[in-house]
Amino acid sequence: MQIYKTPLKEFKFLIEDFLKLNETEFLKNQELETSDLMLILDEAAKLCEETLLPLNQSGDSEGCKFDNGNVTTPKGFKDAFKLFAENGWQGLKVKEEFGGQNLPYIMNMLLDEMISSTNMSFGLYSGLTANAIDAIEKSGSNELKKTYLPNLASGKWTGTMNLTEPQCGTDLGLSKTMAIPNEDGSYSLTGTKIFITCGEHDISENIIHLVLARTPDAPPGIKGISLFLVPKFLPNANNVYDVRNGVECGSIEKKMGIHASPTCVMHYNHAKGWLVGDINKGMKAMFIMMNGARLFVGIQGLGLSETAFQSSLYYSKERLQGKLSASNNIADPILVHPEIRKNLLYIKSINEAVRGLTLLTGNYFDIIENSKNEQEKIQAENFIALMTPIIKSYASDKSVENTNRAMQIYGGHGFITDHGMEQLVRDARITTIYEGTNGIQALDLIGRKLNINNGILFKEFIELIDSDIDRFNQNHAMTKYLKLYLPSYENFKNALSFIKSLNDEKEINSHAVEFLNLSSLISLGFVWLRFIEISLDKLKASKDEFYNSKIETGNFFLTKLLVETQMLYDNIKSGGKYYNDYKDNYFETAI
Ligand SMILES: Cc1cc2nc3c(=O)[nH]c(=O)nc-3n(C[C@H](O)[C@H](O)[C@H](O)COP(=O)(O)OP(=O)(O)OC[C@H]3O[C@@H](n4cnc5c(N)ncnc54)[C@H](O)[C@@H]3O)c2cc1C
Repeated sequence: MQIYKTPLKEFKFLIEDFLKLNETEFLKNQELETSDLMLILDEAAKLCEETLLPLNQSGDSEGCKFDNGNVTTPKGFKDAFKLFAENGWQGLKVKEEFGGQNLPYIMNMLLDEMISSTNMSFGLYSGLTANAIDAIEKSGSNELKKTYLPNLASGKWTGTMNLTEPQCGTDLGLSKTMAIPNEDGSYSLTGTKIFITCGEHDISENIIHLVLARTPDAPPGIKGISLFLVPKFLPNANNVYDVRNGVECGSIEKKMGIHASPTCVMHYNHAKGWLVGDINKGMKAMFIMMNGARLFVGIQGLGLSETAFQSSLYYSKERLQGKLSASNNIADPILVHPEIRKNLLYIKSINEAVRGLTLLTGNYFDIIENSKNEQEKIQAENFIALMTPIIKSYASDKSVENTNRAMQIYGGHGFITDHGMEQLVRDARITTIYEGTNGIQALDLIGRKLNINNGILFKEFIELIDSDIDRFNQNHAMTKYLKLYLPSYENFKNALSFIKSLNDEKEINSHAVEFLNLSSLISLGFVWLRFIEISLDKLKASKDEFYNSKIETGNFFLTKLLVETQMLYDNIKSGGKYYNDYKDNYFETAI
């Protein structure tokens, strides 16, 4: 059995003490307080714990069924989605004019985390719908917004994202799907998309596909891609959406995890669609959706890691093996053993910092929407741009590692199905692959993000860390922790200078993953220093163990995890020639 209780105390700490949301204009303008947000989160917690978690293992074993173009979701999913939609969860962060609740962006992030912790497959239906809403809201015409957003925000309809084709995965410039203009201003789309999450199912009345395609005279490659909205059902003469469009699910994939979410082959055969955004600027429009989707994938990783942590903690208190304490027990709970404790603390220290970094990043979306200060908005955009590949990759990589560590804590009982640990391991694996593989995220960071405006993203991040360091230098209690951080911070800055000194693209790309991991550790260490600073301050007036545990968890992270930065820096400095110059035939000499 998977164990999960929503970490509401942690959420409160993040909302009130870390992000200080009560002080933001956005909340004040809405006449909301953080206590209101906590009440909403409490309701979301009930939905996730009571409705979604009980469907997680049954959904995994039952899976989705395909029959002649139709997909049936596992027992309970349809009703759960109905409940989710009726209670307004799909439109949590959507503007009121489109039927949403206009709550802070981070509220949706926390909801996504809870859903991912309790039922990652379920979260794909709502997650992709949320991303489709973002893309239509930011790039769609007023007509498209008026027609589609209220139905998506209410959960009556769901959304999908169609990029991948058999010959076109990472390299979207290879896309072949064609969009031919119709006389009425719409387009006729023909082509095949593969791996489309929730492309067909029975939980919503209509499915709105966002599809990348090429118009007849578009330039080749990525510059000739446009984005189109293609509904499964079109309206009849009475504006009822019951006319089947030319889009059909050909089959669903058998796969390693997320069994309750169908991964579909979608055939478009003269399907009617409408342009979203400008012609040949599909990637721009799609990126709006993809950035949100990438952060969402990081959150999926975090959600799984949290359930892995809580389940293995519970098990380590129950399972008696080996004796280490002086008690009269025949055997102690395995929680006494150093290796078990180390694994638990490893997972906990990563989860808490990843959650902090994710919410800090998410909060910048609201700053962009609400600030009147142009400079502040640009800096917010820069921070999101820098953190998106870091959060997507690091949180997902660690979810694979953390779910495996949790499984190890269960011993053989983790490998068998009953406890649900092997499901978490299987479900976690896709997070490092979809929404752009983690290798591609690392290239995005070291290539595109590092080169934007002469490295402004990194420059601003370093200024932010430096100003924190200045503040910590005025605070005696922080000296010990700052000392643990500074050598790693030097490794990061040295690695950055080293990479900037290179001019061979292949050599630069050779260090992408190591550099992303180094940047991730520095970002999470930065969050831990802030957590410790707040906790030390809180302890002046409180005896709550929560703050002591925060400080000790941070101490573990800064001591035991940041040491990896030295290894990563040394690795980067030694260069990529070992694999780049390795002859292709050497790979096969032993076969
Ligand atoms: C369960 C599941 C759900 C999915 N959902 C969706 C969805 O809803 N919509 C959708 O459009 N797609 C979806 N995908 C597709 C997914 O996004 C792609 O699988 C992913 O982007 C990688 O593409 P690929 O599989 O073709 O791998 P490839 O592009 O063939 O890559 C193979 C390997 O080569 C590496 N590589 C490729 N190009 C480069 C390069 N230029 N430099 C360095 N390394 C490179 C990659 O990192 C990877 O390790 C889904 C996939 C799965 C399995």
